[in-house]
Amino acid sequence: MAGILILGTGLAGYTVARELRKHDASTPLTLVTLDDGAYYTKPMLSNALSQDKTADALVQQSAEAMGRELDARIRTRATVASLDTGARQVCLASGESLAFDRLVLAIGATPIEFTYEGDGASDVMTVNSLADYARFREALEGVDRVALIGPGLIGCEFADDMAGSGRSVEVIGPDAYPLGRLVPEAAGRALQRGLESSGIHFHLETVVTRIDREGDGYCLHLKNGDQVRAGVVLSAIGLRPRTALAAAAGLEVNRGIVVDRYLTTSVDGIHALGDCAEVEGQVLPYVMPILRAAPALGRTLAGEPTAVSYPAMPVRVKTPSHPVMVSPVSPNARGQWSVDEVGEGVKALFHGDQGRLLGFALTGQEATRDHQALTRQLPTIL
Ligand SMILES: Cc1cc2nc3c(=O)[nH]c(=O)nc-3n(C[C@H](O)[C@H](O)[C@H](O)COP(=O)(O)OP(=O)(O)OC[C@H]3O[C@@H](n4cnc5c(N)ncnc54)[C@H](O)[C@@H]3O)c2cc1C
Repeated sequence: MAGILILGTGLAGYTVARELRKHDASTPLTLVTLDDGAYYTKPMLSNALSQDKTADALVQQSAEAMGRELDARIRTRATVASLDTGARQVCLASGESLAFDRLVLAIGATPIEFTYEGDGASDVMTVNSLADYARFREALEGVDRVALIGPGLIGCEFADDMAGSGRSVEVIGPDAYPLGRLVPEAAGRALQRGLESSGIHFHLETVVTRIDREGDGYCLHLKNGDQVRAGVVLSAIGLRPRTALAAAAGLEVNRGIVVDRYLTTSVDGIHALGDCAEVEGQVLPYVMPILRAAPALGRTLAGEPTAVSYPAMPVRVKTPSHPVMVSPVSPNARGQWSVDEVGEGVKALFHGDQGRLLGFALTGQEATRDHQALTRQLPTIL
């Protein structure tokens, strides 16, 4: 029996393995990962600098310990290069093949990269793994000014974290205000004020055109004519689900790897969850959807087909200078925002045409306290 093969040891891969083992202690289980397989909480990556945490300090369990806990074989530093759905096997970059009866794709997302002019462009950093964080932390040694490209959710978190670690931060992006794609303007501006009060400086409605090396650091040229000097440049312009492996194998992919509510791809016995997956049209690259999907898939893999359901799942933006809770509104939703100032922040509610609450953006200590009561009023997602 070839057993169950899980590609990926992030939150999705490890959580579904744990859920499977609650119902099935004996099916042979193998997990494969590009990295060292250490178990850690990825959201900590954008909160760790201000707490002076090293990458090692973020590790909760080693791959060996996870292998023992799960009674599984964990293949670390192994890249899956191709998938043969007919032969039911994957091929590693080393040439070795691994057979499976059932396969789970939990291969996450990859940072979107942008090509800039200039000899400093190739030094732009991204942080989406423990190893990235270790490199980033090392690069920041002795650096007191950082340029951050991308004023979205993860960009704002990194900006606040770097400010909290005593560095000055220059945030650059085309949006009119931070979190421009998630919240209405009043909420974004309230966050901007909170971050500015921590010394963060914004260059909005403009983009980086060129990055030149200059002394020990970089000079970023912006389209509006400004120049920004910094010792390190971090990009946080978004993540894209890893779909290439699935697409090359002939699985249906759209924005993510397409799965139904059973987390099953277009090929029976092959499943996907986490940042790589598009569940009934929804790509939700956050922790809560994984914590809902993994128990369902664990049961399905153990022989009890179980559909996933998604309640409303607001996201906390970890910006201690000005906390934010957001329940994003679907781009197709019809309705309008109403905004009230609450303390130093805002309470922005989106009501649909029928009067139902469909989303919210709460900013500041006082307004964010209401998030649980409001979440109870939201419709389920799936
Ligand atoms: C800085 C940061 C802060 C965040 N903060 C929050 C937050 O506050 N709240 C929240 O809800 N969400 C947050 N998120 C999102 C959340 O962390 C992710 O949704 C979640 O961790 C994704 O888990 P995953 O297992 O799907 O993917 P990943 O953790 O990316 O795991 C992917 C795995 O696949 C493996 N892999 C990929 N390709 C291959 C291959 N070809 N062969 C073998 N293995 C492969 C990798 O090695 C890895 O083990 C944050 C994300 C980041 C980057």
